[in-house]
Amino acid sequence: MDKLSIRDLNLTGKRVFIRADFNVPLENNKVADDTRIRATLPTLRLAIERRGRLVVASHLGRPKGKPDPKYSLAPVAARLKELLGRPVVFSSDCVGQEALSRSQALKNGDLLLLENLRFHPEEEKNDEQFSRQLASLCDNVFVNDAFGAAHRAHASVVGITKFVAQAAAGLLMEQELSYLGKALTVPERPFLAILGGAKVSDKIGVIENLMKIANAMLIGGAMAYTFFRAKKFTTGKSLVEEDKIDLALTLLGEARERRFRIVLPVDHVLARSPDDTATQIAGVEATPADWMGLDIGPKTIASFRSEIAAAKTIVWNGPLGMFEKPAFASGTLAIARAVAEATAAGATSIVGGGDSVAAVEQVGVAKKISHISTGGGASLEFLAGQKLPGVEALTSREV
Ligand code: AMP
Repeated sequence: MDKLSIRDLNLTGKRVFIRADFNVPLENNKVADDTRIRATLPTLRLAIERRGRLVVASHLGRPKGKPDPKYSLAPVAARLKELLGRPVVFSSDCVGQEALSRSQALKNGDLLLLENLRFHPEEEKNDEQFSRQLASLCDNVFVNDAFGAAHRAHASVVGITKFVAQAAAGLLMEQELSYLGKALTVPERPFLAILGGAKVSDKIGVIENLMKIANAMLIGGAMAYTFFRAKKFTTGKSLVEEDKIDLALTLLGEARERRFRIVLPVDHVLARSPDDTATQIAGVEATPADWMGLDIGPKTIASFRSEIAAAKTIVWNGPLGMFEKPAFASGTLAIARAVAEATAAGATSIVGGGDSVAAVEQVGVAKKISHISTGGGASLEFLAGQKLPGVEALTSREV
């Protein structure tokens, strides 16, 4: 990587501002899923080992620029203390006198967690004065480990980097960039992309970019229906983005010109509504008017499985059906197993997006995936070939 890494920094006795992604779900004032906190532990442990004085900050949820106890990071402080097995000091505001004096009181290896950055509207506005205030909490060193926020030009991601001497990537950030970066630049082939989820519109950039890089793409989930309409199939009550049908047609045409294989489902599981468990399996060409497609069918699963088994690089984002409902989960879960099997046989697999990650966890194969991306939006932008402002803002190695 051409950006400075936390591994390059001398942190002894220095206050280091670490931007983490602790945007975790809370339930009854407790962290309901600590995956994101665990993902940043290696970075925190390294900074502690190097005798730094850690000032750690994150956003959580969308508190709309003002303090809201529902989005407090206090439960994160409690969980972090358990995970690290050492004290965590908490500041009830991320800027101001309390934060400043607590940061100044830190000793080597101590950790201060700041309250939610988004309690201040200036965070999302990338406000210069606010960025300067954040920077005043550290001794000129900033580490960004929040890959999940790297596509946002916010004060704690971009603004702060102007007011420090060194802005480096944390270990999680490095790992994310390394896996995704390799897939886009030097993938082992065949390189297979698997896309699902609700909307084509969220993934247009990814489809266009991966068409130039990958060898083939499997498309499932609701987004397949917009492509079916482009192919003049009837789709009944299936979810279709009417205003994206022309675009889907263009993408199919582009793929044909590039000799790029877009593989769509050939059969699917239908129901009259997502809550109806009376289902039928049918081909995809003609869905009856009052039925909707909610999962890929067995023939599609078989063909997707053999594509996956042959791949050497696999990038998967988005469920292949409405997998939250057990009646429509088989396709997504079968794909999760197939990706894990291919990985065991030597492929590199990258799974991103909340639902696909939940699926690999549900079938108990998360550990078998080469890399689980913690940042849904950021990984999609990266796969779409866009530069992430939070990465661009880091200090280049040669400086
Ligand atoms: P996304 O946020 O775009 O990744 O979409 C995820 C959502 O797409 C999940 O909540 C799924 O239930 C939904 N989804 C996937 N396939 C279908 C489908 N065939 N019909 C309706 N919803 C679907």
